[in-house]
Amino acid sequence: MIVEKYGGTSVADVDKIKAIAKHVADIKKRGHDIVVVASAMGKTTNALIQLAKEVGYANNDREMDSLLSTGEQQTVTLLAMAIEALGVPAISLTGYQAGFITSNHHAHARIKDIDLTNLKQQLDQGKVVVVAGFQGATENGEITTLGRGGSDTTAVALAAKLGWNCYIYTDVDGVYTTDPRIYPQAKRLEEITYNEMMQMASLGSGVLETRCVEIASKYNIQLYLGRALKTDLSKGTFIMETKHLEDMPITGISVKEDYAIMRVLNIENDGIYLGNLFQLIADLNINIDTISQQISKDNKINFTFYCNEKQSDLILQNYKEEEFGYKIERILGFVKLSVVGVGISTHSGIASKTLNTLTKNGIKYYQITSSEISISLTIEKKDKEKAVQVLAQAFDL
Ligand code: ASP
Ligand code: MG
Repeated sequence: MIVEKYGGTSVADVDKIKAIAKHVADIKKRGHDIVVVASAMGKTTNALIQLAKEVGYANNDREMDSLLSTGEQQTVTLLAMAIEALGVPAISLTGYQAGFITSNHHAHARIKDIDLTNLKQQLDQGKVVVVAGFQGATENGEITTLGRGGSDTTAVALAAKLGWNCYIYTDVDGVYTTDPRIYPQAKRLEEITYNEMMQMASLGSGVLETRCVEIASKYNIQLYLGRALKTDLSKGTFIMETKHLEDMPITGISVKEDYAIMRVLNIENDGIYLGNLFQLIADLNINIDTISQQISKDNKINFTFYCNEKQSDLILQNYKEEEFGYKIERILGFVKLSVVGVGISTHSGIASKTLNTLTKNGIKYYQITSSEISISLTIEKKDKEKAVQVLAQAFDL
């Protein structure tokens, strides 16, 4: 019993869809139950967004969600037809039909629950069920989407609800120690823990959505990430609770590019402003990170947090400086680089090696933050490649 998810590039054209249909039909013929989740074909989502812009789209996320959800619907209907053409019964379901009930945050809705009644009926009738990723509906039947890259979350949430394993197929061979485009010697990881993957994903290694790893971890769903139609599972990466062998202290380096540093200076130290600001951010359903505050000598607060550029736009659009009384400064042009590994908490010298390696190579770092399994630094965008390369070498990644 498996959930398989296919990303946009692996269903980019009819030949690819047919090849996946064949693979899925073979699994079904061998007697397995299978649910397939698919993304929109190739760059369809971007193309739809472009169309919306051309008609003068004015931040109407409700309409945008309805539009974007059609991308995935195309793929799943075609895939179901292609499977049926091979003599295997199949049915496609939109997110709504598959029972995905979400919050009403258009463009970044959260899954509240999945009502599996319909999906299970279809499985009981012996069908392959092909579910449109990235979408659901509110209790009132308004179509929502889960945010860019959300099909991963669809697949893992379904696997969690069904108690099945989840195989995510994409156009890369698995998770690498760092971005092979920047550091070609980067190695594929055979295993990575949920926690490490969450850090790598949230810190920018774009292969998997963070939310889906969080769900997998919460429900202990074994996740596999590998190249579509390469069925030799030793060629991808397993994401799981603990790794089998004692490993190197550092698992990987990831970079988060699309980054905005938000800063507010000289705030009165009475807690009122920050309470209001956090409320605004929460109402916008935005997840900020690396929140930090310092108290200056005259008892004023300097406060910073990070978020991605789109979120920073949203915050600034909704922030009324006159009401809040302080100006938010947005600083762009930095990236956040993180050294990640479950061994960090048990090995000493990781921070010194990281910082000294950068300094020796003439790379300046600014804010430093750490968690139990990561050390993160902001560096200037122009230093990104060199920093990844020298650190990957230093840690033998
Ligand atoms: N098609 C959507 C996107 O491009 C969802 C996904 O591919 O996961 O973001
Ligand atoms: Mg994706």
